Amino acid sequence: MVKLNVDEEKCIGCGACVAIDPEHFDFNDNGLSSVIKNDNLESANLKNAQESCPTGAISIGDEIVTDQKCSCCENCTSDENCECGCDNCECGK
Ligand code: SF4
Repeated sequence: MVKLNVDEEKCIGCGACVAIDPEHFDFNDNGLSSVIKNDNLESANLKNAQESCPTGAISIGDEIVTDQKCSCCENCTSDENCECGCDNCECGK
């Protein structure tokens, strides 16, 4: 099943997604964005919200990757063996 997800480890609570697409997002008790609806995933507002997220916390996919360390660049493998070497990589930290 396709599922909309906000990665709370990436979300900084900027509110962009909540402002752009209140149909799908609202703040939780921690001041971070939470998914409140998991249908109408083709909406233009949802696409805009996802593209506007400054940290890439919003994903729409078949499965939720919970052990992903980061996705800093196109060479990142998002695991402990990542050797992409870019400055933003969090995998080895
Ligand atoms: S736009 Fe991204 S960082 Fe900002 S509140 Fe939404 S999920 Fe969090």
